[in-house]
Amino acid sequence: MSLSIEQLQAQFPNLSLLSGEDSAARQLSFGRNEPCTAIGFARPRDTAELAALLKFCNENDQPIIAGGGLTNMVGATLATPDDLIISTELMAAVEEIDTEDRVVVVQAGAPLQTVHDAVEEQGLALEADLGARGTATIGGMISTNAGGNRVLRYGMMREQVLGLEVVLADGTIMSSMNRVLKNNAGYDLKHLFIGSEGTLGFVTRAVLRLRELPPHTTTLFLALPSYDAVCKLLRHLDRGTSGTLSTFEVSWNSYYRLVTTPPAEGKPPLSQDYAFYVLAEMTGQDAASTEALALDLIETATEQDLIADGLIAKNQAERDKLWALRDDIGQVLQFYPMAAFDISVPLSHMADYLEEMKANLDRAFPGHRMVIFGHLGDSNIHLIVETKSEDEEVMHQIERLVYEPLQKYKGTVSAEHGVGLLKKDFLHLSRTPEELAMMKQLKNLFDPKNILNRGKIFDA
Ligand SMILES: Cc1cc2nc3c(=O)[nH]c(=O)nc-3n(C[C@H](O)[C@H](O)[C@H](O)COP(=O)(O)OP(=O)(O)OC[C@H]3O[C@@H](n4cnc5c(N)ncnc54)[C@H](O)[C@@H]3O)c2cc1C
Repeated sequence: MSLSIEQLQAQFPNLSLLSGEDSAARQLSFGRNEPCTAIGFARPRDTAELAALLKFCNENDQPIIAGGGLTNMVGATLATPDDLIISTELMAAVEEIDTEDRVVVVQAGAPLQTVHDAVEEQGLALEADLGARGTATIGGMISTNAGGNRVLRYGMMREQVLGLEVVLADGTIMSSMNRVLKNNAGYDLKHLFIGSEGTLGFVTRAVLRLRELPPHTTTLFLALPSYDAVCKLLRHLDRGTSGTLSTFEVSWNSYYRLVTTPPAEGKPPLSQDYAFYVLAEMTGQDAASTEALALDLIETATEQDLIADGLIAKNQAERDKLWALRDDIGQVLQFYPMAAFDISVPLSHMADYLEEMKANLDRAFPGHRMVIFGHLGDSNIHLIVETKSEDEEVMHQIERLVYEPLQKYKGTVSAEHGVGLLKKDFLHLSRTPEELAMMKQLKNLFDPKNILNRGKIFDA
């Protein structure tokens, strides 16, 4: 039987607890409108308070859900009436910025944007970025090994984490707050927790790697005639910029039209008639030299018929407008009820995979709408499929049609959003039985009572 708010408050008189209407009104996962039925939200103020709470929950077999910004897209923080949500919202400080070591020490609940703003004031950059930057927390990003807009150059969240502090299910505080780039002294335990979606431990603090803030970023927006041209352009820009290409985002015509047609507020910067649109960014020492290189690359790409039209953002306002189109994913809610996918497929197989998958979907669900966009430079795309029904069997059938061909094309059911609740049934398509068995052994080792995010990723 689960604990009550009264029992928790009696045990921890100073703990901040939200229940009743304060808790029920909260949306627990992006795009999910069901009311929160959890026991409530516990909001510890520091690691010691969180550790004592977890120890008590473990002793009382109380399942908990780690909650950050609740922006995940896989139902990872959806709760049952038995669950207690432990939120990091009161553990959100940027504790230290060390400009010599080029690290930032943050508490797990710090929103990404807050960290960006703090380190940029010191001329440094945390090279992780995503559309939910105002709300997504560092703890949530570490726990999902978030990707985002600059993975092509800087890697995923895993590559930004130097050290971690984690509280285990039994309340043990494991401090591994490493600050150096190289540390091969035994197992690098932090990697077990990065990307484990809160099922192995609760992240409380982190040391993150910083880089020099690039003096200048040039943003290109290009229209292309074909998928083949998109792949060739990626290599053309990467080669031509000698590794300073930091972003290569692609919108298929379907997504571009969606975000540049009312009720969307965005206006199309280029005609809506092209097959593909690329938002690319490259960094450099100053505007003049970076833009000159960009122009040169556009010219040579046009000569090779890779680009049909294009522009370079002239200032920050134009850059913001281009990013606003890319990030306007709320428009996909026009398709509701819908199914959202976050898959990876090697670039060399992407076109064949999409052709086969679309043909299967068209046969089973003629007339459904679909949009495609994503971090194609990382082999990662997002698909949104209109389902016209919330019936679970229909949803499942659509999911099968999207996921099952992935094996053949060496893809994965989750590129960056994780598994949560929504992809559990399809995890076996991307992991071998041996891998799954080892995941379950690790879960059993770290959380033998299965209190941490119970039922997420797989059933332990
Ligand atoms: C507009 C928008 C754009 C997005 N773009 C991207 C993108 O480009 N790339 C990408 O990868 N994702 C993207 N996402 C998904 C989402 O933002 C990320 O998954 C993000 O990392 C979640 O952070 P959060 O703080 O909201 O975590 P939550 O949603 O609160 O939690 C996510 C998972 O982490 C666990 N968790 C949270 N905090 C902790 C903690 N301190 N310790 C242990 N476990 C914890 C939760 O239990 C859950 O399993 C986007 C979402 C939106 C809404």
